[in-house]
Amino acid sequence: MTDPARDTDMREQARLVIVGGGPGGYAAAFRAADMGLQTVLIDPEVNPGGACLYRGCIPSKALLHVAQVLTEAREGPDFGITFAEPRIDLAQLRSWKDAIVTRLTTGLGSLVQKRKITYIQGRARFLDERSLEIDESGGKITRLPFKDAILATGSRPIALPGQPPASPRILDSSGALNPEEVPGSLLVIGGGYIGLELGTVYAALGTKVTVVEMTGGLLPGVDRDLVSMLKRRLDGLFADILLRTRVERLKEQKNGVMVDLVDRDGQKRTQRFQKVLVAVGRRPSSGELGLEKAGVTVDDRGFVQVDAQRRTSAPTIWAIGDVAGEPMLAHKATHEGRTAAEAIAGRKVAFEPRAIPAVVFTDPEIAWCGLTQDEARQQKREVKVVKLPWSASGRAATLNRSTGLTKLIVDPESERILGVGLAGPGAGELIAEGVLAMEMAAVADDLRLTIHPHPTLSETLMETAEELFPRHPGR
Ligand code: NAD
Repeated sequence: MTDPARDTDMREQARLVIVGGGPGGYAAAFRAADMGLQTVLIDPEVNPGGACLYRGCIPSKALLHVAQVLTEAREGPDFGITFAEPRIDLAQLRSWKDAIVTRLTTGLGSLVQKRKITYIQGRARFLDERSLEIDESGGKITRLPFKDAILATGSRPIALPGQPPASPRILDSSGALNPEEVPGSLLVIGGGYIGLELGTVYAALGTKVTVVEMTGGLLPGVDRDLVSMLKRRLDGLFADILLRTRVERLKEQKNGVMVDLVDRDGQKRTQRFQKVLVAVGRRPSSGELGLEKAGVTVDDRGFVQVDAQRRTSAPTIWAIGDVAGEPMLAHKATHEGRTAAEAIAGRKVAFEPRAIPAVVFTDPEIAWCGLTQDEARQQKREVKVVKLPWSASGRAATLNRSTGLTKLIVDPESERILGVGLAGPGAGELIAEGVLAMEMAAVADDLRLTIHPHPTLSETLMETAEELFPRHPGR
């Protein structure tokens, strides 16, 4: 709410204003400025970056790299090298991770300046479909009329019903990315992307990690054969994985958090953990933005409704990224941002990717794009599925990581690639080839005939495609 006692300055009308400086917002701003649109970018942080850079993708991947180093050092005896137990300096670890974030976000800040984008540090809300009010960081309130606006406010973590507020013992993903100590025990609530990635970090640091997931398996929605590769390793890494189990209550105490757990048979038990991480999903940040005043329609889950150009129900307002629908992934936001900027500049564009890759950066990594086998089953769509276990890969053997899988989901008539799934180290890098293949409308033969370097994990894509062909004698 505006304090009537405070002055409101009027800013000059913006051709384009972007609310939210994450990978969607800054990509949209850069594209718009490069096309010659006068652009204003608004975000509460001192530099752009959004949740991905400050509290998500980048800090978590820095910590996962450290987890990988620790894990590989522990596996040294397998190949005849023994290291001493590592000494972990958490202050140094945090400052290394923070330095990465600072370097990347200040880099974005200078790109904003170079492009002559006006950057306003503050929080904005719509007054109507043509103007915003901004609470600027210095305490000033300003009004900004605009011709077009892009909403790129992202998402925030969901809390459990009745959950006590985040504290040093009850963490959300942001808190978990700043470890002050290595807890003796940690309960991770939610066996999704965040729970498994951060659970992997804490387990590598030496914490006894328990994961509780309310559905029947980890990473719901991901093909089970890929998840089983990960589950095999997590069973050894985590103290326990409790499936079909709900958390009924969290009670913070001086020496830990008492957690009431209810299993699949309705049996209740109480267990104490030193810390708890709540990672039960994210919801779109579409509240408190004055969207109703601007005539922007939001669905019952809080996602802003958009068309193929990412235009909302208000013709001057566009929305991209997590706030505009699933999947809530940074790279999807970036591409939507560019589409919206180009549409605003009058280009004939639409956001219609053939495939959006998804990666879970665990060990092994899980990555997929396009149609999954589960989706094919639900759609009753006939597909051919070919798989190659990485026990057949020479490169995987030399990495001491033969647990992995590459699979192709192919149209049985045309042999066009409809989906790609990967489990194994580096799966997140390898999936890009699958996405390119799909965007280029490749058939399995294209992958089979593309010479892949040997010995690499990328060969598994070519070799999986080869698996299709013995059934066609004469080729
Ligand atoms: P998620 O949707 O991936 O997983 C949440 C999990 O919590 C689900 O498995 C769900 O069944 C479970 N759950 C929900 N309520 C529960 C309860 N009361 N008790 C136990 N389990 C419960 O959500 P997330 O891990 O919080 O991640 C949020 C979003 O952030 C993801 O959708 C993803 O798009 C994004 N993300 C992506 C990456 C990546 O790309 N690598 C990493 C982290 C987050």
